[in-house]
Amino acid sequence: MTVGSRTNGKSGGEPPRIGLVSLGCPKALVDSERILARLRAEGYELSASYEKADLVLVNTCGFLDSAKAESLEAIGEAVAGNGRVIVTGCLGVEAARIRERFPTILAITGPQQYEAVIEAVHAALPPRHDPRFDLLPPEGTKLTPRHYAYLKIAEGCDHRCSFCIIPKLRGPLASRPAAHVLHEAERLVKAGVKELLIIAQDTGAYGRDLGHAVSSFRGEEIRAHIVDLARALGRFGIWIRLHYLYPYAHLDALLPLMLEGAILPYFDIPFQHASPAVLRAMRRPARQERMLERLRRWRETCPELVVRSSFVVGFPGETEEDFSLLLDWLEEAQLDRVGCFAYEDVAGAAANLLPGHLPPAIREERRRRLMEHQERISAGKLERRVGQELRVLIDDGGEDVAVGRSYADAPEIDGRVHVAKPAGLKPGDLVWVRIAASDAHDLYGEPVAGETG
Ligand code: SF4
Repeated sequence: MTVGSRTNGKSGGEPPRIGLVSLGCPKALVDSERILARLRAEGYELSASYEKADLVLVNTCGFLDSAKAESLEAIGEAVAGNGRVIVTGCLGVEAARIRERFPTILAITGPQQYEAVIEAVHAALPPRHDPRFDLLPPEGTKLTPRHYAYLKIAEGCDHRCSFCIIPKLRGPLASRPAAHVLHEAERLVKAGVKELLIIAQDTGAYGRDLGHAVSSFRGEEIRAHIVDLARALGRFGIWIRLHYLYPYAHLDALLPLMLEGAILPYFDIPFQHASPAVLRAMRRPARQERMLERLRRWRETCPELVVRSSFVVGFPGETEEDFSLLLDWLEEAQLDRVGCFAYEDVAGAAANLLPGHLPPAIREERRRRLMEHQERISAGKLERRVGQELRVLIDDGGEDVAVGRSYADAPEIDGRVHVAKPAGLKPGDLVWVRIAASDAHDLYGEPVAGETG
């Protein structure tokens, strides 16, 4: 970490003001929330504009080359708009590169270096010492709307997928004790959160590094295991949605919790590909035909189950046959929602050294073909919702139309439900909606008369 100026030019009772630019995945967003929670607790205020901020913190993403370019662009904007800039997050591991381009940066820290970021902020912009203002709101400081929140249960990953450098950036799996997670969940619920999005790099592996040790929450011993944690979270009576699950065998044990209504019947499992040859090159489980069988059994047990996934196409060595196999697999799998990335080399990833890199135009063309193929499948699944009644959590109120999501849709990445005749519905309200129409991504309906909650 390198630190520049120590003066902030503030005097008297004016609080120091921080601007924040948060880039990257929901996990980075949670890091930003934690940093802000701590700074707010120390009396710093947030500024929505570069001009009014005393310094700007840029939380970067360094996963793909395109994300790095976006991060560098954001740093450039912050330098031009404010001039006093601290950089943190995944791109922070390339400090020399950042400093070469932006020599006036005050400090650079890497991912998860909370203490180092806070120290850098203190050094560049000392906190105001006034205990009357040092109160943290009970829910901490969230960047998500008040009615939903991301809850990070672990950091790091023990896998070694060849296209990914997250284990290098974030280290091996490091889980939080179950009691810590549950206390944070309880605070969020008390603050009005209606939906918790459970995240980690490898959510299904939660607790393995702790030997699944128990910890005590409200007099009960809870094991640090995803099934036990999900069950305990389910008792808060709000929506619990699990993200980023590796396809472990023990996911099957989550289905009874879905049937009981403890967690949402929603799996987010990045399958990445279906061709055994490509999966082996990716260093991922290569038995996708077995996965089809599991999907069939899951749906038999829990017909409401919605499955979201993501894929990488144009991987080095991927043949047209591999790609066709993936399209056929998707036809069989009938996934509800799919995201797809065209392969890109990531500095430091093992896959960069693989033979058979494909031209970018072919990678992009396969991405487009996959999305078109899946759009038809997703649209067909949405069409089957017409006539159903779904419980919808409202994200945006509106005079004529409110917008929300059912259990089948995670915020930001999935679709939405447009609710006509909303009659005063507000963000965070839960309402039963009769679905009247659908398109490729979204559903449309009206509240069922007299039915809320
Ligand atoms: S499981 Fe996910 S985070 Fe871990 S190495 Fe593979 S892609 Fe990266």
